[in-house]
Amino acid sequence: MKDKLRNYVEELVWANLDTELDRWKDICTCDRCKLDIATYALNHIRPRYFDTTGGQAQKISQSREGQQLITDVILGITAAIRVVAKNPHHKPLSKLIQTDD
Ligand SMILES: [Zn+2]
Repeated sequence: MKDKLRNYVEELVWANLDTELDRWKDICTCDRCKLDIATYALNHIRPRYFDTTGGQAQKISQSREGQQLITDVILGITAAIRVVAKNPHHKPLSKLIQTDD
């Protein structure tokens, strides 16, 4: 039964993550960092669970609450990118990429 419950916020984070990452230059977008960014964002945004059997996701998406959740998710991803990009679980990007200068 629990597989019928999904977190709407998590769906939004995955749906918006790549678009938000594209806005940044000089940050690492490897799978490790993307997972860290998604984890951080999801741990800082209040979840919004819905029952997948009843068309609730569509109702949320069309509501004022749905608009607010998108705003919350964009802010949450932005905050997560700031934290993770500054403190990646691997060497800083500048040390991973050899530059010619
Ligand atoms: Zn990385």
